[in-house]
Amino acid sequence: MTSAEEKPPIVLDEPDREFVEMIKRTGGPNIQSCYQCGTCSGSCPAGARTNFLVRGIIRKALLGMKQECISAPELWYCTTCYTCTDRCPQDVKPTDVIKAIRNIAVQEGYMLQNHQKVAQKVLETGHAVPLDKESWQKLREKVGLEPIPPNASRFPEAIADVVKIAKKTHFDKLVEDKDEDEE
Ligand code: SF4
Ligand code: SF4
Repeated sequence: MTSAEEKPPIVLDEPDREFVEMIKRTGGPNIQSCYQCGTCSGSCPAGARTNFLVRGIIRKALLGMKQECISAPELWYCTTCYTCTDRCPQDVKPTDVIKAIRNIAVQEGYMLQNHQKVAQKVLETGHAVPLDKESWQKLREKVGLEPIPPNASRFPEAIADVVKIAKKTHFDKLVEDKDEDEE
């Protein structure tokens, strides 16, 4: 059996103070009073079915563990239902904290492939779930509707505007497929 003396000490990275300041600004004036009661996690529909623990994210964020926060796949399990925010006895805003961490995660290249593909669809078609012309046009005509609804599917200039905004904000670069050789 390994004795306690033989175990290597746990070494935490230096806290990222800029990250902590951002978390404090985002999570409400009482975020440092989070006492890990778990009301948020106990109310969380995403955590009920996965290993996602929202109070853990709040704790790590306050400790300045930026890398652990932005690289965790469970960061993306939150449905932004705001139940945790409604129920926190300390008026912490866990949902806003999660969204702020997600923004940094994407900026630094951590994005789930499914989200990336959805974003690419928006740039290609103007819709996250584009019209399947083959099947939907016929069905729409059958029930007396115009074959193409009056949305971006009908107005290519609107899609061009979306692409323009994406280029201007560099969103197109964030969601493009990365060359695997670069990794
Ligand atoms: S409910 Fe509020 S105080 Fe309790 S652990 Fe969650 S964030 Fe912290
Ligand atoms: S907003 Fe997100 S973290 Fe909060 S309860 Fe809903 S799913 Fe859970």
